[in-house]
Amino acid sequence: MDFLRPASWEEALAAKAEHPTAVPIAGGTDVMVEINFDHRRPEYLLDLNRVELLRDWEAGEENVRLGASVTYTQIMEQLRAELPGLALASHTVASPQIRNRGGVGGNLGTASPAGDAHPALLAAGAEVEVESVRGSRFIPIDEFYTGVKRNALQPDELIKTVHIKKADGPQQYSKVGTRNAMVIAVCAFGLALHPETRTVRTGIGSAAPTPVRAKEAEEFLNAALEEGGFWDNGKIITPSIAKQFADLASAACNPIDDVRGTARYRRHAVGIMARRTLGWTWEQYRSTGATLEGAA
Ligand SMILES: Cc1cc2nc3c(=O)[nH]c(=O)nc-3n(C[C@H](O)[C@H](O)[C@H](O)COP(=O)(O)OP(=O)(O)OC[C@H]3O[C@@H](n4cnc5c(N)ncnc54)[C@H](O)[C@@H]3O)c2cc1C
Repeated sequence: MDFLRPASWEEALAAKAEHPTAVPIAGGTDVMVEINFDHRRPEYLLDLNRVELLRDWEAGEENVRLGASVTYTQIMEQLRAELPGLALASHTVASPQIRNRGGVGGNLGTASPAGDAHPALLAAGAEVEVESVRGSRFIPIDEFYTGVKRNALQPDELIKTVHIKKADGPQQYSKVGTRNAMVIAVCAFGLALHPETRTVRTGIGSAAPTPVRAKEAEEFLNAALEEGGFWDNGKIITPSIAKQFADLASAACNPIDDVRGTARYRRHAVGIMARRTLGWTWEQYRSTGATLEGAA
């Protein structure tokens, strides 16, 4: 196995163009497991750890530009205000050691349906900037996941940056596992309120072949909140609206039975998490009242 160690982004793109089968390695918390278990024996490893640009982040007016190798620890410690959903999701990843190494670029590279960053990215609204020597392109997060552990990257492309909308309202992340730490999600749910556009976005993890949004649940809730004037009057969301939202979130799942849980349990748990995260975020929205006009 040859080890390629580019010192810059340009060198990394050139190396990937020359060796399209080279496997990029960032934190290595997925790649090294696969190599150690002999699931993968790549001819080339492309070490991205000297590429500084991938470790930087920047918060602009509307978006955060997150370098692919920014770690979960950095997100938790430095981006909690801008990206609360992703910070909460980062908290649930493995252990401090893994969070110090692993990051969102690696989670996207692996594209496991159980990856914790995905529901938060779907709910916040993100775009993945990928690049090759041929040029760069932006992939909306909804189009990034193409199958079980498959993504939209071409063989010569690398993930450069994830552009994520800064939170304009409360966000939550909920995960079901067999214990509180060092656990891959049985299923997970991310929810973000976007008061500026009066919309709600969701993300479901580990309950379909790819991470998905519960689009019908979102559409139902957006219409119900608008119709009832909830964004303005800040009233408590009625149990019947919350239940319908939860039922539609469950219906958006397409899970399997596996060692971590049954399909039936996952559907049920996603509904519960949808209702809970809606309750938590809405309570926060009501209590901060920042954007409520004429609240009773
Ligand atoms: C003990 C343990 C517990 C874990 N628990 C969790 C958990 O709770 N939740 C969770 O979501 N994950 C978990 N993981 C998996 C892993 O930590 C995450 O998926 C992490 O985000 C991977 O990031 P990384 O930088 O280490 O990726 P790497 O292992 O370096 O790479 C992962 C994949 O992404 C590709 N890649 C990396 N960077 C780029 C790039 N810039 N461009 C293109 N491709 C790239 C690699 O080629 C590889 O295919 C766990 C892993 C371990 C070992």
